Amino acid sequence: MNTVTQESTRQWQAADAQHFLHPFTDHAGLARKGARIITRADNIYLWDSEGNKILDAMSGLWCVNVGYGQQPLIDAATRQMKELPFYNTFFQTSHPPAIELAELLAQVTPPQFQHVFFTGSGSEGNDTIVRMVRRYWDIKGEPARKVIISRFNGYHGSTMAGSSLSGMKGMHDQGGVIPDITHIEQPHWFEHGRPQNLSREDFGLIAAGWLETKILEVGPERVAAFIGEPVQGAGGVMVPPSTYWPEIQRICDKYGILLVSDEVICGFGRTGHWFGCETMDVKPDLMTIAKGITSGYVPLGGVMVGERVARALIDEGGEFNHGFTYSGHPVACAVALANIRLIQQLDLVRHVREDIGPYLAQRFAELADHPLVGEVQSCGMMGAVQLVKDKAASTLFEPDLEVGMLCRAHCFGNGLIMRAVGDRMIVAPPLVMTRAQVDEMMALIRRCLDLTL
Ligand code: PLP
Repeated sequence: MNTVTQESTRQWQAADAQHFLHPFTDHAGLARKGARIITRADNIYLWDSEGNKILDAMSGLWCVNVGYGQQPLIDAATRQMKELPFYNTFFQTSHPPAIELAELLAQVTPPQFQHVFFTGSGSEGNDTIVRMVRRYWDIKGEPARKVIISRFNGYHGSTMAGSSLSGMKGMHDQGGVIPDITHIEQPHWFEHGRPQNLSREDFGLIAAGWLETKILEVGPERVAAFIGEPVQGAGGVMVPPSTYWPEIQRICDKYGILLVSDEVICGFGRTGHWFGCETMDVKPDLMTIAKGITSGYVPLGGVMVGERVARALIDEGGEFNHGFTYSGHPVACAVALANIRLIQQLDLVRHVREDIGPYLAQRFAELADHPLVGEVQSCGMMGAVQLVKDKAASTLFEPDLEVGMLCRAHCFGNGLIMRAVGDRMIVAPPLVMTRAQVDEMMALIRRCLDLTL
């Protein structure tokens, strides 16, 4: 490290501490340590301001599906900025990037989706879901149907509606939950099914049954929708039992409730199909999309609207009083088009399903012999390691024992970005990863687990 980079790192850290309020951050703690300044990226690697190379096993924040430095995305943004950097899609106007992207999304999403509503982020997407679901039931003459059911430990964003749909206690404690949103327990077999000696499949049916119990408690005539992530990401990569989602679908169908799949993380190939609902074999009415739609190169989100809701909105609803300045931003749409075409060209979805996903699963499974590891789970390019205090007895750590944070600190110091969610260590690396890179990542993960012992 030379003095120029040392000096600029110190200056950046000082200015950062003085002026920048970061998301989800304890600022007093950060100011004591100083932020790590990331300055450059290529393929699956990052470099910090001191020249250290880091393997990014989290794809930024679950989004850089095609990896960093992809020229077609850079060119698309440059071209679009020159041609038409901004125009809105309100007031009877449209533009080619948004139109072409809407058409392409109708091709790559499941067949019930022929329409998209664009937003700027996943949180705005889920806010849109709340308003659209309520609008749908108003149009259908059932305005009492307002309640949306989601899951504890699910994550759906940070706006008022997003944080209410999310099932994170820390967020609910700071700002509450808006009316007409209620939660059920997550399908976490290791915590709830294993202690009762239930098979994963039996537990999946029981966990889905909690939805029916909640519907009956609220009153079916008041329930509008159920929302969930196919695989809970921010909650710790919770891969549900195979029986869970089909049973959720059966229950939603039984009561006529809209099924919403939050595909902000699982979409665009991460689970080995274009969308996580396809991996879980369910047919949602609405899907939230963001992150992987542009591989995070520029912000973009949206809601895929299935025909059931689209027909009501278009044929019966008149004007839907909802939208954002950046709904269908031309540069974001141009980058999304280039990104989706690149996913197609590189055949990345098949790569995840048939090659790199199964290889990641195989290498992850080898971690099960580690003394700190109670369970490993993976789905496509998402993986989780459940840390345990006593392997033989499968005893979990006390919640306040920050073992995950310790492990994460070792990762940080050893050139690996891996995330800690309580006592689960998780990864979601770029889909372009090679087998050699999976091996490199696994060696780093094992080293960091050894250091945490
Ligand atoms: N939904 C899911 C499943 C997410 O993981 C996230 C973000 O991590 C969101 C919604 C919110 O997206 P954004 O941060 O773009 O608002």
